[in-house]
Amino acid sequence: MKFMNISRKLTKKIKVGNIFIGGDAPITVQTMVKADAHDIKKVVSQIKEAQKYGCDIIRMGVLDMESVKNFGLIKKQINIPIVADIHLNYKFALEAIRQGVDKLRINPGNIGDISHVREVVKLAKEYKVPIRIGINGGSLEKDIPLTPEGLVQSASRHIKILEDLNYDQIIVSLKTSDINTTVQAYQLFSEQYDYPVHLGITEAGTNYAGTIKSSIGIGTLLLQGIGDTIRVSLTSSPVDEIKAGIEILKQLNLKKDSPTLVSCPTCSRTQYDMFTLANQVEKFLLTIKKPIKVAVMGCIVNGPGEAKEADCGIAGGKNCGVLFKKGEIIKTVTEKDMFKELVNLINSL
Ligand code: SF4
Repeated sequence: MKFMNISRKLTKKIKVGNIFIGGDAPITVQTMVKADAHDIKKVVSQIKEAQKYGCDIIRMGVLDMESVKNFGLIKKQINIPIVADIHLNYKFALEAIRQGVDKLRINPGNIGDISHVREVVKLAKEYKVPIRIGINGGSLEKDIPLTPEGLVQSASRHIKILEDLNYDQIIVSLKTSDINTTVQAYQLFSEQYDYPVHLGITEAGTNYAGTIKSSIGIGTLLLQGIGDTIRVSLTSSPVDEIKAGIEILKQLNLKKDSPTLVSCPTCSRTQYDMFTLANQVEKFLLTIKKPIKVAVMGCIVNGPGEAKEADCGIAGGKNCGVLFKKGEIIKTVTEKDMFKELVNLINSL
């Protein structure tokens, strides 16, 4: 079977620290710091943990100047781009740029006088810091309706402010907590603009429901070739957001350096503890960077055949299992060695 590849809309390529968003750059996965922005140690440890699971870009919101001034120290201790999320206060934006942040999330129409915007844009140009305009259904201008057209209209206003100042290092997001509205807004936007887009469904919910909701919304757009960077918003840890984001990309063949796990649902033919094995394998696969498909199957009779698309896999029977490559059995192993043997096989590929 030949799998279809998604053809991505070619957007403007924007440099964010040491990576790119848009154009032919791989789709990146983001999350936000959830620790107190004043606690540098906790913030850095949370970022490092997220990075371990594949986070490409980290964002941190700030409430006061004290935490804005922490960006420099935090940045020195991490090696992924950091984004300052600023609301309303242009002085925070100026200080964040001076602290060395790699990107700003700020809506120029919300920071008051045009002279403030001019100052921020001037400094952003000088430091080569791109700006994400983050349109959010919950905070639209009062004269704009909460519709897909309204969201795009709001984005257009903010974009125009920046373009009038000859600034084009722009990334845009158009989030709401409703999948349909959000999807249509991004579709409309991408018909009209070539700026790269940051995808997300806002206030998506808990780890379980929010992952499903985000997967539908983000996945629908990615399938249409729309999306340059994604953030799954969950009432859960940054690591959970990253894991969900990466899984969405993997399932759409948009993450080229990661393995995917194929596992059957099990049925009454299963004679071993496959749930435990599948979870062990899934955890192990998070630690390796190979574009392979690994299968964990519930029975020896049908497992290898049902998973012949997989590069390698294991199928368990009574007290034993078989290792297979592309559907062909290569070795029989005891039940207690199944995980170890599969890991060895994966490492050998
Ligand atoms: Fe059932 Fe075997 Fe198919 Fe798994 S592979 S669903 S155990 S028949």
